[in-house]
Amino acid sequence: MGTAIALFTRDLRVTDNPMLTEAHSLGDDVIPLFIVDERLAVPPNRARFLRDCLIDLRGSLRELGGDLVVIRGDTEATLRRIGERAPVDTVVMAEDYSSYARTRRRRVERACAAIGASLRITDGTAIVPPGAATPTTGGDHYRVFTPYSRAWAAARWRKLVDAPRAISMPSGITGDDPDNVVGPVRAESPDIPEGGETQGRHRWEAWAERGVDYDSVHDDLAADDTTRLSPYIHFGCVSALELATDPRAPDALIRQLCWRDFFCQVLAANPRLTSAPYRFPEKDTWSHDPDALAAWQSGSTGVDIVDAGMRQLRTEGWMHNRARLITASYLTKVLDVDWRHGAAWFDRWLVDADVANNYGNWQWVAGTGNDPRPNRRFNLDRQARRFDPDGRYVARYLDRADDRSG
Ligand SMILES: Cc1cc2nc3c(=O)[nH]c(=O)nc-3n(C[C@H](O)[C@H](O)[C@H](O)COP(=O)(O)OP(=O)(O)OC[C@H]3O[C@@H](n4cnc5c(N)ncnc54)[C@H](O)[C@@H]3O)c2cc1C
Repeated sequence: MGTAIALFTRDLRVTDNPMLTEAHSLGDDVIPLFIVDERLAVPPNRARFLRDCLIDLRGSLRELGGDLVVIRGDTEATLRRIGERAPVDTVVMAEDYSSYARTRRRRVERACAAIGASLRITDGTAIVPPGAATPTTGGDHYRVFTPYSRAWAAARWRKLVDAPRAISMPSGITGDDPDNVVGPVRAESPDIPEGGETQGRHRWEAWAERGVDYDSVHDDLAADDTTRLSPYIHFGCVSALELATDPRAPDALIRQLCWRDFFCQVLAANPRLTSAPYRFPEKDTWSHDPDALAAWQSGSTGVDIVDAGMRQLRTEGWMHNRARLITASYLTKVLDVDWRHGAAWFDRWLVDADVANNYGNWQWVAGTGNDPRPNRRFNLDRQARRFDPDGRYVARYLDRADDRSG
């Protein structure tokens, strides 16, 4: 059967990883590989989380008798170099949809052609891959969530796959220590979580065992009782399918995972989601107000609920979904600032920043995207009264930030 490269990208786990399981079934020997691609600038918060993920994955692969080869460099050149050192029959990689992922795939294809290996693409991070649920009325994807969610629930879901029992690697293929190759190991935010499959699984188990009444609590800012799994899902430390098929997963949570797949199929059909208005181009006109943008970024607009959210972002590299909605709505619908500035700021700080979810949600809030009511406006006082009635969320982040600066 020869040698297969298991090319990890955003699937940094051994459990329910179709890419790894496929590589294992195709090769007598497997080279588990992660390339820290020099073309992709990863901000410090995510670099730190990624480094944790790689160290954890390396530990899991070592327990299986293998290792994780981590190399910093160009994807195409790295694969060619490995192909020169060991005969490689197949490269296996998961599907992904951003512009960067598409370019990377072309580079992997070129490398495979050069080293005489075949390329196998497996299902990626979505539960229902883009294209597997398409509108019966025509078109390649759904533009509105509700009909999509019905098609999503009715679609065929793949079966969970087992982790390989053991991994055998060819000799002489070594990589670098994740600490040396990932980039800045100091996060910008003091309170970001530790990354990796082990942490992600612990977090899910603890949350699922508490039996949280997610439906009634997920919008409560102070309760802070959502799963906080988004960075683990983004980096593939946990499988979204495994969460959605866990009998303990509340329906309302499964619906959120459906939103994730929704934006994934939007991105797959519109790789320019990050830069161009998706659905309502006539709504894509903005004022130029650098001072207003700077106040929003630093959490000093004077609107407590907005400032608390923005300070949570900088402190934790994460923000509650309700606060994301409020802060994004304030920037675009009150300050009239271009959603691209907001999305870029989120992208810099969020540990879970995800092309499809970040840009899809920003365009939804800004009124240029998938919200069928693009003129929707939040009443900020009402939002604060409803979702932070005792002001505990505001106090937590505003008081805390004031303590630190004082
Ligand atoms: C302006 C804006 C920007 C956002 N940027 C991102 C981003 O970059 N990365 C990201 O993962 N999510 C993003 N979201 C969606 C959502 O806010 C986060 O997924 C959620 O807050 C993460 O917390 P959690 O893991 O506790 O979510 P939970 O409530 O526990 O939900 C479980 C999972 O479902 C998915 N999910 C939940 N809500 C959404 C949603 N509205 N859209 C898509 N998927 C969802 C996430 O993978 C999440 O981890 C954004 C939302 C807005 C309004």
